[in-house]
Amino acid sequence: MKNQSIWFPFTQMKTADEPLKIVRAKDTVLYDEEGKEYIDANSSWWVNVHGHGNKHIGDAIYEQFQKLDHVLLAGVEHPKAKELADRILTKVDSSFTKVFFSDDGSTAVEVALKMVFQFWFNREEPKRRIIALDGAYHGDTFGAMSIGQRGYFNRPFEHLFFDVDFLDFPTELNQLEVLQNAKRLMETGEFAAIILEPLIQGSAGMRTYDLDFLEEVMTLAKRNNVKIIFDEVMTGWGRTGQLFTMDYLTQMPDIVCLSKGLTGGVLPLGLTVATDEIFNAFLDDEKSKALLHGHSFTGSAIACAAACASLDIFEKEETWQRISQIVQWHSGFKSKIHEHSAVFSVRQLGTILAVEINEKEQTGYFSTIRDQAYRYFLDHGILLRPLGNVLFLNPPYCITEEELAKCYAVIESFLDSLR
Ligand SMILES: *Cc1c(COP(=O)(O)O)cnc(C)c1O
Repeated sequence: MKNQSIWFPFTQMKTADEPLKIVRAKDTVLYDEEGKEYIDANSSWWVNVHGHGNKHIGDAIYEQFQKLDHVLLAGVEHPKAKELADRILTKVDSSFTKVFFSDDGSTAVEVALKMVFQFWFNREEPKRRIIALDGAYHGDTFGAMSIGQRGYFNRPFEHLFFDVDFLDFPTELNQLEVLQNAKRLMETGEFAAIILEPLIQGSAGMRTYDLDFLEEVMTLAKRNNVKIIFDEVMTGWGRTGQLFTMDYLTQMPDIVCLSKGLTGGVLPLGLTVATDEIFNAFLDDEKSKALLHGHSFTGSAIACAAACASLDIFEKEETWQRISQIVQWHSGFKSKIHEHSAVFSVRQLGTILAVEINEKEQTGYFSTIRDQAYRYFLDHGILLRPLGNVLFLNPPYCITEEELAKCYAVIESFLDSLR
């Protein structure tokens, strides 16, 4: 890359291609400098759930700007933060009673970690260990990296991470063993919490696991007084077919982290939603028992207005019709290609469709097929960032049947080219 003032994320600047230059976007389509169109097949890293340039969200932002752009949230309340928190609580189980604001998915996770560790600290119970799942991704800050998959991405920092007990990723074969292992750990009484991406791990390659496993590990956690954190940063906002993935469950976590699609993908915002039980452990005459955490932009009024407008859209029947349409279309395409010789497996959870390509040697993030696929899709007018040998679609919900059919056709022709 030449003459660059931008240091790009997740990019080896020495060998990277010139960046795609996007100047405009509307609904599902991104336009480059020359007017060439690209379907935003991954919703710009999961955030853009309602499509680009959504008028309802745009109007809400402008209106909010004219009233109040931003005010600090410590000791000050403003109507949009209040409205957003109140409305979020009507959409989750009634055991959740408090919403803490931060800036993005990573900070929502950091806040959740602080909440559980301080919960036990304030109660003077020595629970200091934490369980996570092998292959997890919870963000790029130090706490979030600590509880995530160790390896390529964060080796230079590994000596700084806190200790975490990782459970093997549950499959049909090892599920019982993983549960036994979880039980053995939890029964030590030393664990503050378990953190999970419910039902699907994103950056591990759209790996799905059983609802039964999730229920059982939660039952174990509850029985052994281990707090449960759900990282729904990626799985929230209709992605898996329900508003939140926890809506599929019979029991609830203690804390839920939300971000990505929260504002409809137009402004950064993170939320950490907690139960009354968690919150009550911070109430004390002693100020140091409070959650002494906050960011400059905590509760940004404009971001809250965007999030409320996004909630309006989720309250429309039409949005859910679109979501179930995508689920159906995906499932049709899944049956069509699952026996393709270049396909190792096809996985679907709601509006997420992942195609894992058969590969002899290299797998994982650095697989060469990744670069080949990425360029192929760009050439065919689709912006799709594969995770190694996993191609995945998680489009904005306003995607048309025609646009999605184009994505399927290009995936299929790419698979054919590998034969
Ligand atoms: C993206 C993601 C995060 C981190 O969110 P950022 O907004 O990128 O900091 C955390 N957890 C999961 C599951 C994610 O997919």
